[in-house]
Amino acid sequence: MTPILLGAEETRETFAGLETWQIVLWYGLIVLSVAIFTWGVARLVLKYRRGRAGQQPIGRPLERAARTARIVATHAWIRRREPLSGLAHLLVFYGFVVLFVGTAILAFQDDFAEPVLGFDFWRGWFYLGYSLFLDVFGAALVVGLSIFAFKRGVLRPFRLSYWRPAEAAPPLAGEARVYRIGDWAFLGSLFFLALTGFLLEAFRIAAFDPDFEVWAPFGWLLGQGFIGLGFEDAAADDARLATWWVHGVVALFWVSSIPFTKAVHMLAGPAGVAVTDKHAGRTLAPLPADAKPEEVGYATIDALDPKHLLDLDACTKCGKCHAACPATATGYPLSPRDLVLDLREVAEGALGNRAALGIEPRFPEHAPILGTIKPETLWSCMQCMACVEICPVGIEHVPIINHMRRALVERGEMDGQLQQTLETIYTSGNSFGESKRKRARWTRDLDFEVKDARRERAELLWFVGDYASFDPRNQRASQALARILHAAGVDFGILHDGERTAGNDVRRVGEEGLWTSLAEENVATISGCRFDRILTSDPHSYNTLKNEYPQLGGSWTVLHHSELLLELLESGRLSARKGLGYRVTYHDPCALGRFNGVYDEPRAVLEALGCELVEMPRNRDNSFCCGAGGGRIWMQELRAEGAQRPSESRIDEAVALDAVDYFVVACPKDVTMYEDAIKTSGHQGEIELRELSELALESLAPTRTLAGV
Ligand code: SF4
Ligand code: SF4
Repeated sequence: MTPILLGAEETRETFAGLETWQIVLWYGLIVLSVAIFTWGVARLVLKYRRGRAGQQPIGRPLERAARTARIVATHAWIRRREPLSGLAHLLVFYGFVVLFVGTAILAFQDDFAEPVLGFDFWRGWFYLGYSLFLDVFGAALVVGLSIFAFKRGVLRPFRLSYWRPAEAAPPLAGEARVYRIGDWAFLGSLFFLALTGFLLEAFRIAAFDPDFEVWAPFGWLLGQGFIGLGFEDAAADDARLATWWVHGVVALFWVSSIPFTKAVHMLAGPAGVAVTDKHAGRTLAPLPADAKPEEVGYATIDALDPKHLLDLDACTKCGKCHAACPATATGYPLSPRDLVLDLREVAEGALGNRAALGIEPRFPEHAPILGTIKPETLWSCMQCMACVEICPVGIEHVPIINHMRRALVERGEMDGQLQQTLETIYTSGNSFGESKRKRARWTRDLDFEVKDARRERAELLWFVGDYASFDPRNQRASQALARILHAAGVDFGILHDGERTAGNDVRRVGEEGLWTSLAEENVATISGCRFDRILTSDPHSYNTLKNEYPQLGGSWTVLHHSELLLELLESGRLSARKGLGYRVTYHDPCALGRFNGVYDEPRAVLEALGCELVEMPRNRDNSFCCGAGGGRIWMQELRAEGAQRPSESRIDEAVALDAVDYFVVACPKDVTMYEDAIKTSGHQGEIELRELSELALESLAPTRTLAGV
């Protein structure tokens, strides 16, 4: 053994033992690999360019690049709710990046620095540090891959299964097998590269055994093992040479395959994150003014926005959306992951690499996506945003589904019950089909007049919404809120018969024309009023008033009643008369929480009321939709026979908590859905529903007297 020298001698020969023709062959293979990779990437870019551009606003490139770098570097989106998978991906990611950069440094030294500049930096301390770094990160790669294999092969979580909710007629019945093979091939190929890399290092050490290679500790240990077994010198060198070729050729093949395999997410994932629209789903895109009927929504694959075509390739099949989706969980024929994968198959067959290579598409070429994706799949969506919120690569399922619904609506292909409700809204201005004169009838039981905000100035314009106006159970909650406001001296008024359905869910079912006319009418009415801020207890109205009415010129400060109640409590205009002492659980409405990030205010109100809040396992951004959103409350049932409704599953979750008195909601549709679910799930008597205002009214003593309570 030679003594450790920390000078210029610590290095190794890159092409040790290779003939000149073999080196030439190696460079030829590199050129071929890079050419295939470049062709594949170019085809991907061409595919995205064939989408109908202009629907997705993309600006502020520097800000986007910095944000993407932060998200990718920290794995903030990948780690969410899956810390073990997040750790595994972090190890694989940094292991891969360091090995890739290490290879690039070596190529720079061999092909440019040394032959062109005469500068040989790959020796001495640099070489030792380089060896240590690559060895340790190579080990990290192996550990990360092992965790993934353990999860996939042993733990087998639901999200990684390719079970489809609509087993009766999945469009790609045999695809689960293809996907599973692809997943394991991706994992296996990385394993193979990492292990042959270590073997290569170990054979080299066993052949030459320089002491300084202890700086590559894992390779060195393996090399010492071979030496201990007597496998050294010439035999080890022969093995080194053979492994060098195997490792090198497989690595080049792997690189060239990136645009064609699961590895494409390495390119499309960060690109998708970079062009993500932070308003996706919350603020839907208006139709272009000059859109022809055939250009409404997504009916064919080339109608997709380039960003949405990119999304399809970014999907890693992690299944997080599949696990979070309330439709999937309760047996509706929809999985957001499968929707993305099916659209990807169509895109590949019609526009992508598969089309370019003449490989038979899995769906017929140029297949219209309506039909391939069944209408019932699209109508199953609750537009709850659970999928968009959890997707680690920023895929925008909700706008994609919404665009496809728009195309269905344009063709008149919709659920009969939904069609009837939309007609009712069109003729009466509300989803209950009531006369507009009845809209303010709920105020008759109050012993004070509620201002007409169209005639008198008011501090707050209360946009009540359909359910809170017409549904008898919800009217009680509206009356509770009105009494609190009145007693606290809040100057408020309503639009009386001038209010129309806000249209949030009309827009989410894809009826853009009706949404526009409702919104225009409301914007005109509200614009004629004098007020400071808008109040609503309906998160659906809140979302569209706050995020979508500005598209039509209606930009106001919009408050949810939980925000206002907290403001009144904090300002001292309301104070708790007594601590209620109830154990309660709170359900985050999708349109308030995931859509608009209002999580803390309702909880702070409950705390101020003296309630003990017990969280359900699925809370805040992981809340579980009641099943009403996205217009589902107006449609026929689509879930599998015998399956629970999402609202029933939620009540089970609440009842499983220890001795909770009240299930607290802050959304009129939740009041309706959960009052019903408490009965149908068989939990009557075990838990009761309270709207936030009702608890507040019970507890609060406004600084003025609670007249009429
Ligand atoms: S929005 Fe909700 S219901 Fe629709 S696909 Fe996503 S998770 Fe499922
Ligand atoms: S769409 Fe997103 S969350 Fe769903 S499987 Fe693909 S990468 Fe995962």
